Amino acid sequence: MVSTNGKPAPIKVRDKFFRLYLEKEQIDRIVGGIAGRIDMDYQGKLPLFLGVLNGAFIFASDLLRKVSIPCEISFVKYSSYQGMASGEKINRLLGLNETIRGRDIIIVEDIVDTGLTMAQLFADLKAYEPASVKVACFCFKKDAFRENFTIDYCGLEIPDLFVVGYGLDYDGAGRNFPDIYQLDETL
Ligand code: 5GP
Repeated sequence: MVSTNGKPAPIKVRDKFFRLYLEKEQIDRIVGGIAGRIDMDYQGKLPLFLGVLNGAFIFASDLLRKVSIPCEISFVKYSSYQGMASGEKINRLLGLNETIRGRDIIIVEDIVDTGLTMAQLFADLKAYEPASVKVACFCFKKDAFRENFTIDYCGLEIPDLFVVGYGLDYDGAGRNFPDIYQLDETL
């Protein structure tokens, strides 16, 4: 998926350099594919998308605009990352509420790494007795994954790289790049 022709310029985010990994046109196609599957799977239902802030805000907004069935969206805020490492402790910064009960939930995550954040969200969701819970994530780091839940709508499996852009940050910066970039320590 790395662009080879045209040699796009690397970007600098804080003290690190990153090179292009996935262009916005490819991102757009992947998101369209996920939306199409959700449209088919949720015919006649009113799913409640649950975006995981901060990272998923761009993916969630793109996905929602491509889904054509009736739906609703809400957000939770969970945080585990510090700099470039996935933490062991999950902070719940904005929680769940009663609107979850009896609903068909589609969790929208930017990236699943170890899976710890998502596992915590699954556990928290249980208390609110949703009718069903599925997961849509844009990037999935299969080799770093340590949990055993199913990712129902996976945009892209990536190696264990550190990526920024398309909502993903490095120490709070870099979320606004429309393409996805990978850390390059050789630059
Ligand atoms: P997990 O709990 O699955 O280990 O981590 C999930 C969270 O870590 C994601 O929601 C995301 O915020 C962050 N994360 C994981 N991998 C990356 C990455 O390569 N780049 C960035 N910017 N954030 C990541």
